[in-house]
Amino acid sequence: TYTPALDDKLLEGLQGAVRGDIVQPGDPDYDEARKVYNAMHDKRPAIIVRPVDVGDVVATVDFARERDLLLAVRGGSHSVSGYGTCDGGVVLDLGRMRGIRIDPQARTARAEGGCTWADVNHATHAFGLATTGGIVSSTGVGGLTTGGGMGYLARRYGLVCDNLVSADLVSADGSFLTCTEECNADLLWAVRGGGGNFGVVTSFEYRLYPVADILGGPTFYPLDGDVMRGYRELIAGSDEKLGAVLVVALGPPVPFLPERWHGRPLCGVVTCWSGPEDEDDEVRARLAELGPVVGQYLERIPYPVINTLFDELLPAGLFHYWKGTFSQGLPDGAIDAYVDYGATTPTIQSATVVFPIDGACHRVGPQETAFTYRDADFATALSPTLPTRADCEATTVGWARAFAAALEPHSLEGGYVNFMDHDDQGRVRANYRENYDRLTTMKRRYDPGNLFRLNHNITP
Ligand code: FAD
Repeated sequence: TYTPALDDKLLEGLQGAVRGDIVQPGDPDYDEARKVYNAMHDKRPAIIVRPVDVGDVVATVDFARERDLLLAVRGGSHSVSGYGTCDGGVVLDLGRMRGIRIDPQARTARAEGGCTWADVNHATHAFGLATTGGIVSSTGVGGLTTGGGMGYLARRYGLVCDNLVSADLVSADGSFLTCTEECNADLLWAVRGGGGNFGVVTSFEYRLYPVADILGGPTFYPLDGDVMRGYRELIAGSDEKLGAVLVVALGPPVPFLPERWHGRPLCGVVTCWSGPEDEDDEVRARLAELGPVVGQYLERIPYPVINTLFDELLPAGLFHYWKGTFSQGLPDGAIDAYVDYGATTPTIQSATVVFPIDGACHRVGPQETAFTYRDADFATALSPTLPTRADCEATTVGWARAFAAALEPHSLEGGYVNFMDHDDQGRVRANYRENYDRLTTMKRRYDPGNLFRLNHNITP
């Protein structure tokens, strides 16, 4: 538990330059401030800086670089790999920078780097607008956007990074750069999927769409490969306004699922139909055809609500270990693995989530953004999660590794950086495929000293 304190003299300079908080070991809120979402990562930074503006961010980046200190950048804190914290270094926690400005005429939102999807969805919904975002509302826009970003609206409107119009960024040398298609376009390209490698994004500007209410919610079926094959056909044959995610999990204790299914392995389709209300019944009928429905909550709800359905199951402080894959179609072999491993899903908080990323995601070329998997139809997240650390190695880590190995023959090479864990650093080149060399060139230009290295790291 020893954390070397930073020299007081060193800190004086930073304290004079930062208006936000600086938390150090021994401060009453240190233990709270050092916590990250994934409790697997119990680290002790030398200081945690919580900036309130760009000036604070520049001062902190300069401070870390000039003193050669390890720097962790934290947005919503959901990094399963634990990159939002570090031992003995500086944590830049953007959690106080959560301002949002909506331009309803231009249909854009500018969100500061510490916003969560709950913040963005709330602000845009007031104008009857929305954009693709994560399916858990407490996830940060920072990590999710810079990794690519999948969500219910992806088939219709593309990935989150496809809707990133511009980004304000503080680079490793402390410069403030506005990145648009016209200005610093190479950096905008890199931020669209290249992770936190290129700097601290202090604000993201997103394109918005007129989506207010949707037909949404989960439909549960027994764990059965035929249901999944039906889901595969459903996605292939449906309008892009249907953003339905396949989930394999243990039945949650919710009122619309009979008690005998609680805790038993099930598969589910979490629907987000953003099309016209008079086609809702058609969607309901297609879902009913997939198999025997054992529980369903499917209603017209505000778009922000669909992104909160898993929130209660997944509070901060659980122990996560993740793996991720991409596939073309949903091969039968992958479905067999979902059934086999789904039957031994470790806990009620664990899930296998399959995101459809065809439609609009395919209308962007593989080299148009750093995110390159434009040939993938589905992205799968394996996310075993435990309430305590006990048995993590055997239960979550072992289960996820074996499951990922079973999926490998049916998957594209590489995977989604945002579903990787800390032991996946060896896959970074594979994850960026033909874009890796360009990303390396960019990294050499913008961060030759690899200040931003606590991420799925593109080494200069
Ligand atoms: P943080 O831990 O704060 O940040 C992760 C990393 O992102 C940082 O280490 C840093 O490198 C970088 N970063 C964060 N903010 C900034 C910034 N402002 N500027 C530059 N770099 C930054 N992914 C999806 O695509 N779709 C989903 O629906 C989805 N759901 C999820 C649900 C849960 C419960 C969890 C745990 C993860 C989910 N993910 C999803 C994965 C998610 O995209 C990644 O975990 C992502 O890194 C989280 O971003 P964050 O800002 O919350 O995390």
